[in-house]
Amino acid sequence: MKLHEPPVLDLHWEGYELAADTTHRFLWIPQGSNLRLIAVPIDAPESMGYDHAWCYPRDPDVITSAVAVWDPDTQDEPTGWHKRPTHPVRRAPRRDQDLEYNRPRCHHGSLLAEPCRTVVCHDRDRRDHPEAVRAF
Ligand SMILES: [Zn+2]
Repeated sequence: MKLHEPPVLDLHWEGYELAADTTHRFLWIPQGSNLRLIAVPIDAPESMGYDHAWCYPRDPDVITSAVAVWDPDTQDEPTGWHKRPTHPVRRAPRRDQDLEYNRPRCHHGSLLAEPCRTVVCHDRDRRDHPEAVRAF
């Protein structure tokens, strides 16, 4: 995605807008010990919050790099995050053009087909133990 050069300070969100597409602005904001990339809808009041978010290490360069290589038209989510605190998962408008990239991920960012780096991953539990789904 084409980045703003330089990023635009956003006083409402107290973060920086890195880029925008036709429907959302993409900003990073401090969030505890992380930085959070948020997708703020362009046509809704700021008070409505954001539609999607992904947590990254507290390093703006990591988020900036992830957004720079992300194509939100064909790719559901950026990469490099370790937590997705929002639901449902974002779906790219033309996601069928990059199905390999858009394989399902757990809420820690790992592809479900690959190991998750966290000890407890409920998404993985659901996949590996369908009988346990009723427990969630
Ligand atoms: Zn996981």
